[in-house]
Amino acid sequence: MAISSDKKLNNFLSSIKKLSQNDKERVVKAIEFSSRAHRGQTRISGSTYFSHALDVAKKISDLNLTTDAIIASLLHDTVEDTPIGLNEIKKEFGSVVARLVDGLTKLDNIRISKSWLPPFKTKYQQLDRYEKQVETLRKMFVAMSRDIRVIIIKMADRMCNLETLYYLPKVKQTRIAQETIDIYAPIANRLGMGEFKCRLEDLSFPYLMPNEYKRVKKLAVQEIETRTKYLKKLRIKILNILAQKGINAEIKYRAKHWYSLYRKLKIHNLDIDKVYDLVALRVMVPTVEDCYNVLGIIHSLWKPLPDTIKDYIALPKINGYQSIHTTVFADHGVITEIQIRTPDMDRQAEFGIAAHWYYSDTKVSRLMTKKQYAWVKELMAWQSKIKSSKDLKQSLKIDMFCDRIFAFTPAGDVIDLPRGATSIDFAYAIHTAVGNQCVGAKINNKIAALSTDIKNGDIVEILKDKKSKPKQDWLKYVKTEQARDSINKIVKTR
Ligand code: MN
Repeated sequence: MAISSDKKLNNFLSSIKKLSQNDKERVVKAIEFSSRAHRGQTRISGSTYFSHALDVAKKISDLNLTTDAIIASLLHDTVEDTPIGLNEIKKEFGSVVARLVDGLTKLDNIRISKSWLPPFKTKYQQLDRYEKQVETLRKMFVAMSRDIRVIIIKMADRMCNLETLYYLPKVKQTRIAQETIDIYAPIANRLGMGEFKCRLEDLSFPYLMPNEYKRVKKLAVQEIETRTKYLKKLRIKILNILAQKGINAEIKYRAKHWYSLYRKLKIHNLDIDKVYDLVALRVMVPTVEDCYNVLGIIHSLWKPLPDTIKDYIALPKINGYQSIHTTVFADHGVITEIQIRTPDMDRQAEFGIAAHWYYSDTKVSRLMTKKQYAWVKELMAWQSKIKSSKDLKQSLKIDMFCDRIFAFTPAGDVIDLPRGATSIDFAYAIHTAVGNQCVGAKINNKIAALSTDIKNGDIVEILKDKKSKPKQDWLKYVKTEQARDSINKIVKTR
């Protein structure tokens, strides 16, 4: 145990070698701080809390995030799980780290309510109701993060949790896997973190749908092997031809991730021969001009399938994704997808701004309307601002939901309200009858005045009395039309 964690520590330390001397000293201080704070705490998996913090920090360091983010990863569970307070963190590591840790602690409260999970006995039986709730949870997740780094650290944290999910009780496994697929993965996707998204999904898939997982694997393993063997030869052939033409290329082949394969197979009635990109070839060449040359060369060798050529270099996806895709009848008539891009475009598609969110979310999920996704467009617009912004520090802040508040009912349902809304708005947002019978409220288990503003993440319990009626003076402190109209209706008839 001690040996393996020493190895882990050394691995991590070598990943921060590139930092300045001052930054390295701060990180080392955080390592000492975190290991002291978590002393004696072990997880169900048998590893220590500190070693978990180290795992998360390693992922963040590999992504080249800021030193503050690396430090916040090391400390991310200290406020939640040890007596250490935010003030101490602020004093030792500064206000940015404290703010990041605070955000990470708060995000722990965003959970899928048990009552939403199958077997469905509640009103969430209807899938569209469920979809609406998780969409609101996604917004809440982004709103409460307030900083892009908080989201990314949380994603890394979740990935580490999934890697040791095996040790948890089954009920927890299911909840965490469901949450990952419905909340974490879509957000990663919209942030263009394609690699994260796929890994999160693939780690959750076997826990959530064990039978489907086995079925997809059984269906695809042999075929993937066959196609990979075939592509190995094709790869060398293309490399040789490009070399003759003086083009310096790198070619990878990559099997489709399990969960996205599962979704594609469902569309094609489990016919694996229709999945042309089960294993795709990815050709990377230094310049955009090279990309078009390669496309020309490939089409002179093999005929493309009609309507499969997509030029996302000339016409990038809304999220900035760039690549050329073509599907050709390659040697022996095997239908093969080939993607052509520069190394820059490749990095961006995996970790950066570009991803397949638009394609996978809008085409696969019929339940989601474009309107519901308006906030995604905002997120993407904000992304492109980051890309062009010199002042990265400023743009790491997320203000897109600054006029909205997300709060929970005691049962875990999430209610979306305008900023400044009170318990009365909350009550009417649940149901008109709940608003009309409202006599008081508990916010986070404490009795609160009905005029109190609700804050992000509050748990609000409405106290009711069937005989009670709305009061005229409520109108002074409601924010929503819905509450105002309902109160007026009753007050006026009196
Ligand atoms: Mn954690």
